[in-house]
Amino acid sequence: MRKQLDLELISLTKRYGSTVAVDAISYHFKVGTYACLLGPSGCGKSSTLRMIAGHETVSDGSVTLGARDISHLPPAKRGTAMMFQNYALFPHLNVRDNVAFSLKMQGKDQAERHKRAHEMLELVDMVNLADRLPAQLSGGQQQRAALARALITKPDVLLLDEPLSALDPFLRIRMRAELKKLQRELGITFIHVTHGQDEALALADEIVVMNNAIIEQAGATRAVFDAPKTAFVARFLGSHNVIAMPEGTLAVRSDALHIKQAEGAKLPGTITNIEYQGTHVALTATIPGEQEVTAILSDKEFFENPKNLGEAIGLDWEAEAAHALAG
Ligand code: ADP
Ligand code: MG
Repeated sequence: MRKQLDLELISLTKRYGSTVAVDAISYHFKVGTYACLLGPSGCGKSSTLRMIAGHETVSDGSVTLGARDISHLPPAKRGTAMMFQNYALFPHLNVRDNVAFSLKMQGKDQAERHKRAHEMLELVDMVNLADRLPAQLSGGQQQRAALARALITKPDVLLLDEPLSALDPFLRIRMRAELKKLQRELGITFIHVTHGQDEALALADEIVVMNNAIIEQAGATRAVFDAPKTAFVARFLGSHNVIAMPEGTLAVRSDALHIKQAEGAKLPGTITNIEYQGTHVALTATIPGEQEVTAILSDKEFFENPKNLGEAIGLDWEAEAAHALAG
């Protein structure tokens, strides 16, 4: 049986002077989960991650791993490891020594350090670059070296703070596939901080959406995407329209909006923009209350009955495609 090593945040709080950066958040990360902390800049993601790692003190509440309260342990004693945003590789050490650094701190002899560094470099496919200095590596290679360095301590939880943000868009997509593969192979918990919704949707089994120091909504990625509970979550995840109707505020996915004649439709609209996007067409319309919505139509649906700018249309959706929003 797998070790019971769920990570739990219990009313975890971080205050910097009078700033409350993380406000009593609670969440249970099951072992082996790929979780993304998603939210805009300044919402408290890095502070949360650093408190889990032990690089920042906990102001209130606690972090437990398995049955252990790790809130006040030094980073190396927690069973967690952190990969930093800028990788923080030592410029004067070659890749092998960077990867083996924490073993040196633990007083392991050189033979063991080199053996384990070699295993980690095999894992990230970097054996042939072991003698290079960080400055002699590409962005993607630096990222893999940083990953190997974090994993050499055999952590139960790997914490990654915006691990892909330093990469160009092409490499970012390739490296995110590698991260996911690595997490599956290792079977450990990854907690990955990002402000990119695409990245979170692509990677996460579970998504924790943060806003203003609290968890706005969390759970299985598809469940959150399919049923956002607040206007903030719907807007932040994208691909949703937030529509204020007389009976309340709704979220309706862009791909669930359909165009028909104005009579009998849920809403009248006027087309303000039409963007051809290859497989689909994004059609923007104004609706009553000076609101704007976007419908994503398949190219087939649009071109069977093309519309023009300024044309009056009706917008419709299936009742079950709409979710009532709080706030
Ligand atoms: P995120 O990673 O989501 O961008 P952070 O956790 O870095 O957010 O920051 C959350 C809030 O805490 C912000 O208002 C930020 O300015 C503040 N903050 C972060 N680190 C410090 C610090 N060392 N001292 C004072 N305020 C900080
Ligand atoms: Mg941050």
